[in-house]
Amino acid sequence: MALIVQKYGGSSVADPESIKRVAKRIVETRKAGNEVVVAVSAMGDTTDELIDLAHQVTPIPEPRELDMLLTAGERISMALLAMAIKSMGYDARSFTGSQAGMITDARHGAARIVDVTPGRIREAVDEGAIVIVAGFQGFSRESRDITTLGRGGSDTTAVALAAALEASVCEIYTDVDGVFTSDPRVVPMAKKIDYITSEEMLELAASGAKVLHIRAVEYARRHGVTLHVRSSFNNGEGTYVLNETTDDYAEKLAALQGRLQERGKTVEEPIIAGVATDLSEAKITVVGVPDVPGKAAQIFKIVAKTNANIDMIVQNVSAAATSLTDISFTLPKGDGQRVLQALRAEQSDVGFQSLQYDDQIGKLALVGAGMRSNAGVSAALFDALFTAGINIEMISTSEIRISVVTRADTVAEAARVVHKAFGLDAETQAVVYAGTGR
Ligand code: ADP
Ligand code: ASP
Ligand code: MG
Repeated sequence: MALIVQKYGGSSVADPESIKRVAKRIVETRKAGNEVVVAVSAMGDTTDELIDLAHQVTPIPEPRELDMLLTAGERISMALLAMAIKSMGYDARSFTGSQAGMITDARHGAARIVDVTPGRIREAVDEGAIVIVAGFQGFSRESRDITTLGRGGSDTTAVALAAALEASVCEIYTDVDGVFTSDPRVVPMAKKIDYITSEEMLELAASGAKVLHIRAVEYARRHGVTLHVRSSFNNGEGTYVLNETTDDYAEKLAALQGRLQERGKTVEEPIIAGVATDLSEAKITVVGVPDVPGKAAQIFKIVAKTNANIDMIVQNVSAAATSLTDISFTLPKGDGQRVLQALRAEQSDVGFQSLQYDDQIGKLALVGAGMRSNAGVSAALFDALFTAGINIEMISTSEIRISVVTRADTVAEAARVVHKAFGLDAETQAVVYAGTGR
């Protein structure tokens, strides 16, 4: 008997009807002779609504209490889903993150899984029950408090369960048919990808493709879990995220390619896997920094102390007359005020002139393992943006990714133009089945 871990996202369990539909799907997997463990997200936009609610009470909610509040969302969906399955005559039991043994560190809102002790889950499965686990939440042994794994974290719950239970596959059910060459809400001509390497998926997730939580991709890569991202609204196959670092990669890939070829699909490796966009970052510019050794180190030491996640960094050529330079970097908007404050406090010590804060930026990333061996990719990207009259403000590259910063209001157009220029457009528009895109 195979054990399958399934994860259902918020838009797949948005209302009672959807919960019944998902229950039916889970029961079908069970009837097919599998053991089933499910991680479930809060219904619809519940998490966002709870955050809004917290902000109506206080501008800066206490992290411990915010986690307490947000984890309530998954408690609702897990209990309803278990009830729905029970009413179909199958044994089902729901468990909170702490009951399921999701042990994390104590960082509220961004906790990391340090251990999974799925004793109770194993027991319930052995007794023939379908197990429903609340996604996105854990328990810290240090602080003895309830934690959350960060937005989108239910994917990571599912992967951690799959690894701990040695599941044969971890299925991520969502509101689109799989991983596309770009967000179908932004680029309607995006194409479904049949399989992608975990390396490429990591870069896409890191660049804003929220279809998979980045930590879920990392966890799956580290523990050799195969991910299958697919729609909860139909039975079609979605996207397999294959782990190129494991021994059975070639075997799995060949099997998949064989299956695709049987269906008449061509399976050559593309140079570009996809285009991701991200509107969640801001740019800070430190203006008038003395152009002498040690200043960048000093600035980024101050920034590092705030624990902010810095992304792109650009230092301009200094003006010959003044020997002063500007240093810009991007970071999540949520970290912006904290970093500005920290820098302001040390302004006289560092000796810069002023700070600029810009939260109207958009980031576009082009990702593909085939870039490694293809020198013309950057030129083609810049040319496509130039032709569309879109100005590039910052550039950064890795081995398999090129990222650019543009104005926020041009990034969607930029994605469509670049997608087309690299020949990624599908013949028909992608379907988005549900969700508000929030
Ligand atoms: P869930 O609630 O199921 O976790 P999410 O909203 O977190 O769903 O993720 C699914 C959404 O991710 C899609 O509706 C889509 O708008 C967005 N998305 C962004 N980039 C991509 C991509 N490359 N492929 C597919 N979906 C993407
Ligand atoms: N409900 C949480 C969120 O909206 C976790 C998740 O859905 O993955 O971020
Ligand atoms: Mg998600």
